[in-house]
Parts: sequence; structure tokens; C-alpha cells
Amino acid sequence: MQEHIFSTYAKPDTLFVRGEGVRLFDAQGADYIDLTAGIAVTALGHAHPHLVAALTEQAGRLWHLSNVFRIDGQERLADRLCAATFADRVFFTNSGAEAMECAIKTARRYHWSKGAPERIDILTFEGAFHGRTLATIAAGGQAKYLEGFGPKTPGFTQLPFDNIAAVRAAIGDQTAAILIEPVQGEGGVRPAPWSFLRELRALCDEHGLLLIYDEIQTGMGRTGKLFAHEWSGAVPDIMAVAKGLGGGFPVGACLATEEAASGMTVGSHGTTFGGNPLAMAVGNAVLDVVMGDGFLDHVREMAKVLRQHLAELADSYPDLVDGVRGEGLLQGLKARIPNTDIIAAMREERVLAIGAGDNVVRFAPPLVITADELREARGRMDAALSRLAARPARAASGG
Ligand SMILES: *Cc1c(COP(=O)(O)O)cnc(C)c1O
Repeated sequence: MQEHIFSTYAKPDTLFVRGEGVRLFDAQGADYIDLTAGIAVTALGHAHPHLVAALTEQAGRLWHLSNVFRIDGQERLADRLCAATFADRVFFTNSGAEAMECAIKTARRYHWSKGAPERIDILTFEGAFHGRTLATIAAGGQAKYLEGFGPKTPGFTQLPFDNIAAVRAAIGDQTAAILIEPVQGEGGVRPAPWSFLRELRALCDEHGLLLIYDEIQTGMGRTGKLFAHEWSGAVPDIMAVAKGLGGGFPVGACLATEEAASGMTVGSHGTTFGGNPLAMAVGNAVLDVVMGDGFLDHVREMAKVLRQHLAELADSYPDLVDGVRGEGLLQGLKARIPNTDIIAAMREERVLAIGAGDNVVRFAPPLVITADELREARGRMDAALSRLAARPARAASGG
């Protein structure tokens, strides 16, 4: 029963009680192919043996210390993330929104520490999603998330996506940073052209701004690179990561260069739970797998397979589907009927997808998915779409 749960989610009745790899099982034992991975979180699938071992080993040794003490797993994970990226410094959090909050604070504090406290404005993009805290709903700027929650936190300006002239025109004396998701996830699985990221990098260099990437959804191998921006060659100064980093254990991270993090001095920021030994044990175990030989090659290969299946489904059902978009194993079908109808029909065929903005059906399967599993999922999706195609016509309403 959901009657004592906040009604902020409209959930289907299905109750999953167990997961294994790409499959979820309900109480009756029926198997569902999970192409959501808990919204790009269970990147290694459910109950991955390496993660289970890492978590249970840590659980028997040490759960929590507080950040007033050294945490060995934190130092190790930070070393590894920095070795693999542009970053020199990491702050660990429990969630994506907190990683974003840290990124925003780091950018403002940088300018403050350089004697420019007026530089607080962060340029963001229409359709963006950066979390549900008061600052991150202002950063995303979407009316549906801001409504009824009081005054919008100042210091965020939304600009049209992929319009460099608009960005150039918006830069002023108070601008601190530019914040972008390399691929908009919640906003409708919309990749930024890689040239746009390079242009943003050049603008930041020209004006002394910090470039912040939100790779909470696109990071940790999701697009076939460890981080999506690697496809563009344009590195950020600050980056928020979460979701796949913990493989299902809550963890986030704010990564920054030494220079960008230079304002974050002792006492300027903190967290009780962020980066605790349990989370770090799992984060390190996720990295073992994602950075293992051939793993990202596998993601790139499976991305091609998924893309091909979705393109063929789009071709077969032109009245239901408008096209395919995305990057790597983050793909979307732009729907012509309400995306929720397609998601519900797919769930009836025991394949799980999620909605995204712009009436898109979003797929973010576990990165360990195989070609056989994708073929099986395609068969179930085909059955769902064919059932929808057979029903009486009805006007698209979006959603
Ligand atoms: C999920 C997500 C967030 C928010 O993460 P939470 O862990 O829900 O706070 C922020 N930005 C992007 C791009 C996301 O996909």
C-alpha cells in the first residue's frame, strides 16, 4: 500500500522483489527486462557479484566515520577518478543534486576568493535538469518543478540549447559559470552537439568563466566513454557525477581542477554521510568493473545494437514513433502518442522503460546488457507497439 507515502510519484501497482543482472522479478516470479536501470543507476545490473562482495565485506568492517576523519576508500576513489579525468580534487556526496550544489558553490566560491564576489550567475539551458533542491530547480529552470516552491533562487539564467550566440550575448560582469549536461536526460534524451561543448569551453576561457558539466546521468560509461564529454574533447573545470557511480548505492561526487576548487577551503563545505566507507567500497568496486579491459568497448557495441533495434521499431511503427535519439546506452524514442501509453504497454510485455521530457520514451539499460538480452527486449517492445498500433486511433496529447 502506498497510502502513507508522499504522493509525488504516480507508480504502477507492480511490486518488484528481486533483481538479477538486467532482470527484475515480481512477487509471482514474472521476469521483466529492466531497460531503466533505476534511471541509469544500476549500471552493472542488479546484484552484481563484485558489488555485493564489496558491500558485504565493508559492512562487516566499518560503516561510518564522519568526514572529520580520513576515509581510506574515499582517498582511493578520488585518486582513481582524478587519474581517469581532468580533475584534481573530489568532494563526495549522497546524491546527484548534492553533487550539483557542491559544483555551484565551488564555482561561486572560486570567483569570491579571486576578489569578484559579484560573479554568482550561472548560465544554464532550456530543458535542463539538475536536481530537486531549491538551487537545482532554479538551475534547471523548468516551471513544472519550480511552481509553488516560493521565489526562484537567484543566479541562474536559462538560454536556448545549442545557440552559442545567445550564450555569448548573455555573458556579463556577474557571470560565474556555464552549466550543461552533455546529453540532456530528463529533458528528453537530447545530446548537445560536441562542437557546442567546444564553443562553450572557448567562451569560458575567453571570459574567465568556469565550465560545469552535469554528468550525473551520462557519466560512468553510459555513453561508451567514462564520461560523455570525452567524445567532444572539451574538458570542464567542475563536474557533477552520481547515479552509476554507486551502482545502486547512493553516492555522488563533485570533481574539479585544483584551480576551480581553490576557494573551497577548510570549513567552507561539508556533509555528514557523503563519501562514507560503505559508499566508497561500492564506488571503488563499480570503477573496478567499468575501467576493466574491454568494458567500454562492450558498451559501445551494445549501444549500436540498441540503436539499431530502436531505429527498426521506429520504422515499423511510424504512427507511434517519430524517431530515435541519444548517445551510447542512453537512448530515446520520440513518441507520437503519449509516451506514458508506450511505457505502460511495454510494461505489460515485461520490458521497462521510463519517460523523459518532450514526450520521449527513455532507455538506459544496465551497461552489462548483452546482445541476446537486447534482442529479447526488442521482441517484447515489438509486441507492445504492435498492440498499440492495432487499437483505434487517438490524438497525440504529449506528456
Ligand atoms: C538524476 C539527475 C540529477 C539529480 O540527481 P539526484 O540523485 O536525484 O539528486 C541531476 N542531474 C542530472 C542530469 C540527473 O540525471
